[in-house]
Amino acid sequence: MITDLVQISRLGEKKRGENEKFRRWIKSHNFVERQFRRAAHEVHEAIDCRECAECCRVTEAEIYEKDVEKLSKHLGISRKQFMEQYTATGDEGELILRRTKSGCVFLDGNDCTVYEARPKTCEGFPHLLRGMGSIQHKMWAYVDRATYCPIVYNWMEQIKGLTNFKK
Ligand code: SF4
Ligand code: SF4
Repeated sequence: MITDLVQISRLGEKKRGENEKFRRWIKSHNFVERQFRRAAHEVHEAIDCRECAECCRVTEAEIYEKDVEKLSKHLGISRKQFMEQYTATGDEGELILRRTKSGCVFLDGNDCTVYEARPKTCEGFPHLLRGMGSIQHKMWAYVDRATYCPIVYNWMEQIKGLTNFKK
């Protein structure tokens, strides 16, 4: 299992073309989704997200009303204060957590300072195990995630081996 982030970035970019091809292959072939999910469980078990936190540095965390309520309560501030201090608008007008040069505003080193109250999207990331939709449907996002997320990178490599996909 590869967890070194420099290696993940290099390999994920190197395999971007191959992973794109795999994504298209998946759309037109039958496969056993249960096997893919089992592989996802195994990779999740083997990798400790709290040692990594790369998604908190790389991606924007979209939030919803329920997250706003939970986080402002957790921080002991009003909704208005929370919105002013900790949120921003993403490129497509969505509500996101504010970011600093090092990533999410709540990231301190590798620690999430609001871990118990973190948004739903953070809880489920990289959405291999949780979230709506089939793996086929979500595959478009995984090619990119494989360039920074060790869980997604290792999972993609494992599931390619479970099919007769030709690299
Ligand atoms: S809220 Fe926590 S888990 Fe979510 S992006 Fe920010 S630091 Fe990461
Ligand atoms: S979800 Fe991926 S990128 Fe985020 S902390 Fe876990 S292994 Fe790292």
